[in-house]
Amino acid sequence: MNWCVIVLALLLSTQKSWSYPSARFEEANSFEKYLEKARTVLDRVPLIDGHNDFPYSLRRYENNQVGDLDINDLTTSEPWASSSSSQTDINRLRQGKVGAQFWSAYVPCSTQYKDAILKTWEQIDVIHRMVDANPTAFEFVTSAQEIEDAFSRGKIGSLVGVEGGHSIGSSLAVLRMMYDMGVRYMTLTHSCPTPWGDNSQLDDPGNVPIHDGLTPFGKNVIAEMNRLGMLIDLSHVSRKTMRDALETSAAPVIFSHSSAYALCNNTRNVPDDILQLVAQNGGVVMVNFFVSYISCGLTATVQQVADHIEHIRNVAGADHVGIGSDFNGVARTPEGLKDVSEYPNLFAELLARGWAETDLEKVAGLNLLRVFRGAEAVRDQMAADGGKPFDEWIPQADLPAESLPCSTGQIKSVTTE
Ligand SMILES: [Zn+2]
Repeated sequence: MNWCVIVLALLLSTQKSWSYPSARFEEANSFEKYLEKARTVLDRVPLIDGHNDFPYSLRRYENNQVGDLDINDLTTSEPWASSSSSQTDINRLRQGKVGAQFWSAYVPCSTQYKDAILKTWEQIDVIHRMVDANPTAFEFVTSAQEIEDAFSRGKIGSLVGVEGGHSIGSSLAVLRMMYDMGVRYMTLTHSCPTPWGDNSQLDDPGNVPIHDGLTPFGKNVIAEMNRLGMLIDLSHVSRKTMRDALETSAAPVIFSHSSAYALCNNTRNVPDDILQLVAQNGGVVMVNFFVSYISCGLTATVQQVADHIEHIRNVAGADHVGIGSDFNGVARTPEGLKDVSEYPNLFAELLARGWAETDLEKVAGLNLLRVFRGAEAVRDQMAADGGKPFDEWIPQADLPAESLPCSTGQIKSVTTE
């Protein structure tokens, strides 16, 4: 009797020790299948990423002198190879199946009231030059239709987003000219308030709002963006600015690179009540991969990024979530999403969780395309209604004293001869 039990126990324990590797093998095998399926989804619809800071890397590492720079493979050349925030090159974009990219024209808040406009212009220029120098990989695009057309030609549609309202110097004229240079979204603030809108850090404990959201001029900025068909990006802004913009905008809005506040309580993320408003507005929240916004810690995993996507789906719906990696803007990326080559891992993870392929297509790019078309339709309607450019100037009283030394003010009185 006793030996019988011992033999049985031995048998069971042997079986158990066999079952582990085989389960792991099966798991790996099925993940490989999900990965394959994920790749076919990304062959069908363009993966449109809302935010990549590669152009700022061109400034940091190359001083924008990129005439002879080969960006096909940046994994071996310095200073790129040893940089912890070098997560993009053409080869890896191809591996990651990126279909279109909003390249960020970002300049720091330290340029506000100084040379922000000039430096933003330089960033828009370097994006144009990067695209022109790599015509087999990139195509400069400015509309939803052009994203789809470029994708059908096997090109990565390349768009420009200006990251921070400080880049327009409180001038609607500059905003309009930036649109003419191809800019298709503007993030209303970066990490500083503008004279017309509050940024997210003002919601951090101990800070107080400056404008309580958007000023009347800030609402004019929204109206002019609607008239132009430029997407309003609410990443980086305060909650009240989010609410004011959602209330003011006639067009659906985007969060180009923000995650879910309920899972990581950083003010760069979007709280649930705002997620519900985004659903009503028809907009899209494009999930940021930066570990500080995913886990609120020093590391994160691709599974945790999938948790953020699922949370936004659960609160706002699958029509209102997308991808905005923030690659090249951050030093720490999640395990399984280390650079632009690894997007398929995220889609495979969602497939493994039972996501329908039709919903994955929305997350990949169809949601952004719908939002973009919505903004274009508002533009067309405003034009049909005889809408004219808003030519209000920001009230002098709204400009802080620190902005004055660099301004010549209204120059009407200066003679021209
Ligand atoms: Zn950012």
